Amino acid sequence: MMFTSVFLLLLAAIFAVAWWLERGRNERLETERVGQLAEQRIQREHELREQAQRTAALFERMIEGLIVVDAAGRIRLANRAAGELFNFTPPATGRTILETTRHHEVAALVTRLENEPEILGHELRLETLESPKFLQVNALALRDGEGVRDGAILVLHDLTRLRQLEAVRQEFVANVSHELRTPLSLIKSAAETLIDGGKDEPESLTRFLQIIDKHANRLTLLIDDLLMLSTLDSGNIRLALQSVSLGGAVQEVADDLRGRAHARGVTIKNKVEPALIVQADPDRLRQVISNLIDNAIKYGRIEGAVVISALSLDSRRIEVSVQDDGPGIPAEACARIFERFFRGDKARSREQGGTGLGLAIVKHVVQAHGGEVRVESAPGAGARFSFTLPAA
Ligand code: ADP
Repeated sequence: MMFTSVFLLLLAAIFAVAWWLERGRNERLETERVGQLAEQRIQREHELREQAQRTAALFERMIEGLIVVDAAGRIRLANRAAGELFNFTPPATGRTILETTRHHEVAALVTRLENEPEILGHELRLETLESPKFLQVNALALRDGEGVRDGAILVLHDLTRLRQLEAVRQEFVANVSHELRTPLSLIKSAAETLIDGGKDEPESLTRFLQIIDKHANRLTLLIDDLLMLSTLDSGNIRLALQSVSLGGAVQEVADDLRGRAHARGVTIKNKVEPALIVQADPDRLRQVISNLIDNAIKYGRIEGAVVISALSLDSRRIEVSVQDDGPGIPAEACARIFERFFRGDKARSREQGGTGLGLAIVKHVVQAHGGEVRVESAPGAGARFSFTLPAA
């Protein structure tokens, strides 16, 4: 009996110790688990914060404007690009979309999203103090987990630059068509006159053949200039850069144009120091010099002088100038003179066989060499075209 009691007591003690040890272990495990959970929570919160910061930075850096509104049409989020488009300071949180954008069409889009899931490719025109802006809006209705409407998101693309380029392209095509049509219709009417009997009179035969020849040459020049510009535009121009004697290149061009200069009694003076050597593609360099001297002869004074000079700006750049003593160029024309098809006097340019592309080619070729071109002129005081080239 006594033995049994002692045995039971021992057993109870063993159980008590085991229980106590187990409880201690469980408590340790529990404390460890709570610690791990707390650590995981901190880690998760850190990750969420980082993710939110990354998303905010991404929204801020987006080129597209982004506006998120709540179900009442109040701004929840708007990025910098949206602020620039509608001229407000983000985040503008809590203000209505109409107050913020001051554009009824944008507010109407948000209202439309109450009944439509999305609106894609909606085009907007924004009137500004300068020129209008063109936007494309893609808008999406937001819904919560239960499918209840929870606001909307608007993504705004600025199409203004694209529209401007499109307008430039259309104007260019219209100009090219016009430039091609004029000589073509003159060639056609000369040919018709010859067919209708003109060929039987030797005098008119020569005269009309000369007209055809002159305008066919003009077409050739125009097409050559257009092809040149298109090569320059595509960036595919391969310059055969080498050391070129600037004075030598000017002299070659002056000799080529001597006949044209003589016809207007113009004297060409090459004042370029023989020692000046530039790093250039010789053919393209001659083309630039030729366009400028040819213009100075065409638009300068009859019996005037065209002077070509050059100086080293520093050890790396040489500036070349072509100066005439003609009527000069008005300031408003100077600002646009390097544009394609821009002419101070259309009739005069055409009569001289000009394509209206010469100076645009000069500008592109000089820029392709890493240089710059400019014009200085005062009415009555002649014109001075200067461009820079790298020294060899
Ligand atoms: P084009 O001579 O074929 O018309 P350019 O691009 O070479 O085309 O020149 C554009 C216009 O610039 C000319 O039509 C002319 O009105 C003006 N221009 C160019 N050079 C001179 C100059 N030296 N003096 C006065 N006007 C000039």
